Amino acid sequence: MACVSVRRGCRSSRGSPPGPFFSGHLAFRGISFGAAFAAAAFAAMAVVPAARAAAVGGEVNVYSARQEVLIKPLLDRFTARTGIRVNLVAGTADVLVQRLRSEGANSPADILLTVDAGNLNRAKEMELFQPIRSEELEKAVPAAYRDPQGHWFGLSMRARPIMYARDRVDPAALATYRDLADRRWRGKVCVRSSSNVYNQSMVAAMIAERGVPATEAWARGLVANFARSPQGGDRDQIKALAAGQCDVALVNTYYLGGMHHAAEAGEREAAARVAILWPDQKERGVHVNVSGAGVTRHAGNRDNAVRLLEFLVSEEAQRWYAEGNFEYPVRPGTPVSDTLAGWGSFKADDLSLAVLGEHNAEAVRLMDRVGWR
Ligand code: FE
Repeated sequence: MACVSVRRGCRSSRGSPPGPFFSGHLAFRGISFGAAFAAAAFAAMAVVPAARAAAVGGEVNVYSARQEVLIKPLLDRFTARTGIRVNLVAGTADVLVQRLRSEGANSPADILLTVDAGNLNRAKEMELFQPIRSEELEKAVPAAYRDPQGHWFGLSMRARPIMYARDRVDPAALATYRDLADRRWRGKVCVRSSSNVYNQSMVAAMIAERGVPATEAWARGLVANFARSPQGGDRDQIKALAAGQCDVALVNTYYLGGMHHAAEAGEREAAARVAILWPDQKERGVHVNVSGAGVTRHAGNRDNAVRLLEFLVSEEAQRWYAEGNFEYPVRPGTPVSDTLAGWGSFKADDLSLAVLGEHNAEAVRLMDRVGWR
């Protein structure tokens, strides 16, 4: 049994259902009550038809930047247990945040669920959340993975390590993120655009820990080593490693897990050519981030919203929620899938992710200065 010592937890191995990520359409779905709710448009959500709201436990409305298929079985279980109906809108983080802003006090949303502490902190700054005190949530979610005032809580954790081409890179040649800025990697680094929040959060974390000058020097060296102009998503960096376009890349862990279990043979073959190197193990640890959620400022079903968040960090939900997308549970001691266990244990940076928001704007300016497009 592999022990993944992420922060305090030691996680054992488990089976892992594959699951995709993000979603396109924007329609509320009555998760447990089937298609009856599917036709309801956003505009109609402010006034919930009485007949549909008659469930014993009431309801809760979720704006989710995670795809329905990823969380539906969990929400169904929540409904079975509590009688609380969950209505879900799936969309991209930016679109959902814009919705919340424009709807203001009339928004039907009780919960905003999204990825990356950068997005969660941004939503907090826009005053889209309200502070929540919950012993359950505070006990289950390590302090570094939630907002100190309770505006948002991490629900799953992901790492952003170095990935490398197995056939061209000796992992002994790399130990830190700093190494990626070394001249020996000239023309060998792949990474996506600086407009992506994952990179912004990573640079924000470095600024918090090392300051602007050291981070800027690193980023300048990294950009000098780019194999190509930043393009595509994290999966595309894995494919570029496999295709020989570069030797090392920065990629979120769950993308590799997803490709290992992809329906398409090409994706599985690309994943097989790539391995993970956990950087900074003798320093702060590998950069990690979360998917998370908060209760909206104008939530009409606040108590049900808190109940749902508490359910999502329960032991039972944590295992499934994380495994559905090859992520790590935030709750210490929760078992991880065989795929994740196979990647070995690592030390995660314990920087409070709430700090990332404070440095996001500086991170974006810094990346701009060094030409990280
Ligand atoms: Fe992602």
